[in-house]
Amino acid sequence: MPTCIVCHLEIEENPNTLFKCTNEHPIHRKCLAEWLLHSQNCPLCTEPYSQNVLNQFEDELEQKEQEKQAAIDAEKKKEDFRKVEELANRIIFLKEIEEIEQLIDDNQYEDAIEKLLVLYNEGSYDVNDQKVLFLLGKANFLKGRFDLTINFLFKLVKLNFEYPDGFLYLGKAYEKLGLPDKAKWAFDRAKIE
Ligand SMILES: [Zn+2]
Ligand SMILES: [Zn+2]
Repeated sequence: MPTCIVCHLEIEENPNTLFKCTNEHPIHRKCLAEWLLHSQNCPLCTEPYSQNVLNQFEDELEQKEQEKQAAIDAEKKKEDFRKVEELANRIIFLKEIEEIEQLIDDNQYEDAIEKLLVLYNEGSYDVNDQKVLFLLGKANFLKGRFDLTINFLFKLVKLNFEYPDGFLYLGKAYEKLGLPDKAKWAFDRAKIE
């Protein structure tokens, strides 16, 4: 009995199970079906399989191709869903920031800070964190907690050195605390726009 060039097991002499390349290298039907997904040439001698052989695998190859496509489609759907979810989260975040900015405009600093701390502790992605840190600095400044302003705004400018408004409130807080040198340093950074 011939042995398969792929799996090295014996093959029954049967046209349904035994296939051969043009150089007569024996291969199992299932081994060849797997192999044809990668190549149409014999794994041993690299001669192309005859059209007659390939024709007998058309259905299997098409099915495999469809399975592959279905997997790609499913992956894409998952990716689309993830993007929509991310966008929805972003919209929710922006809405919350809008409400918080309104609270600050209405001098409701306690409420604004409380909401900001929730977002701060959630630790959303960087761009969001920066806005949260800035508003925490600003609201605490307006509330008169200059030490906390400095604390939050230092975290902010460490993340993003190009945040003029962050430096502006940092400078104002230093000024209030009677630290003119540090205030000047921050105000100088605030001018870069
Ligand atoms: Zn085999
Ligand atoms: Zn061969």
